Amino acid sequence: MNLEKNITNVLQEISKVAQKAGRFFEDINIIAVTKYVDSNTTKEMITLGIKHIGENRVDKFLTKYETLANEPIIWHFIGSLQRRKVKEIINKIDYFHALDSLNLAKEIQKRAEHPIKCFLQVNISGEESKHGFSITEIDHVLSVLSDYDKIIIIGLMTMAPIDASDEELEHIFKKTNQIRMTYKNRKIKNMPLTDLSMGMSRDYKIAIQNGSTFVRIGTAFFS
Ligand SMILES: *Cc1c(COP(=O)(O)O)cnc(C)c1O
Repeated sequence: MNLEKNITNVLQEISKVAQKAGRFFEDINIIAVTKYVDSNTTKEMITLGIKHIGENRVDKFLTKYETLANEPIIWHFIGSLQRRKVKEIINKIDYFHALDSLNLAKEIQKRAEHPIKCFLQVNISGEESKHGFSITEIDHVLSVLSDYDKIIIIGLMTMAPIDASDEELEHIFKKTNQIRMTYKNRKIKNMPLTDLSMGMSRDYKIAIQNGSTFVRIGTAFFS
C-alpha cells in the first residue's frame, strides 16, 4: 500500500472528471473512509493533505477520535447508526451521512447540543437490503424533519447496488440530484439541500459527473 501514490492517483482522476463535467475540483470534498486502517495510517492521510475522515462504526470512530484529538480533522460518520448509540457520537462529528429513519432523527434532535449537518439517506434502487428512505417517503419525512432544529438537511446520500451497471449508476445518481433540486427549490426550513454524498471507490467518477459534492473513498486509498 503506497498511500502517497494512491492519493495522487485518486486526486488526479477527480480533477480530470471534474474538468470534463465542467465543475471545480475544489467543490468536491474527498472523504477518506478509514474503516480499513488504524489511527496511524489515518494520521498519515492527514499529513498527506486529506482533511475529511469517514468512519462507519461507532467503536472504531471513537478510538480514532480520541487518538487523533489533536489533528485538524473534519469527521464524517457514514454508516447506519443505532438509536441507542446516537449520544456517543453525535456531538463529536461534523457530518452525519446516514439519516435513514424518523426514530433516529428524533433521537438526534434529543441528544444534539447544536445543529448537526445531516444527509438524508435515500434508497433509489429500491433494493431491499439497502438502508434509506424510498422516493415516495421523502415528502412526508422532510415535512416532519423541518420542525427539528438540531437537524440541518444539507443534502442527500445514496449508495448504489454492488452490481449496478454504469447505466444504472448514472440513473441512480442523476435521480438523486433531481430529487435534491426539487426539495431545495421548496426552501424548507433547516434544509439547504446544497450537497450530495455519493460515490465510492468503484463509482465516484459517475457520481461526480452527476453532481456529487462529497465522495466517500476507501479501497482506492488503502489497497
Ligand atoms: C466502506 C464505505 C465506503 C467506501 O467504500 P470503498 O468501496 O472502499 O471506497 C463508502 N461509504 C460507506 C457508507 C461505506 O461503508
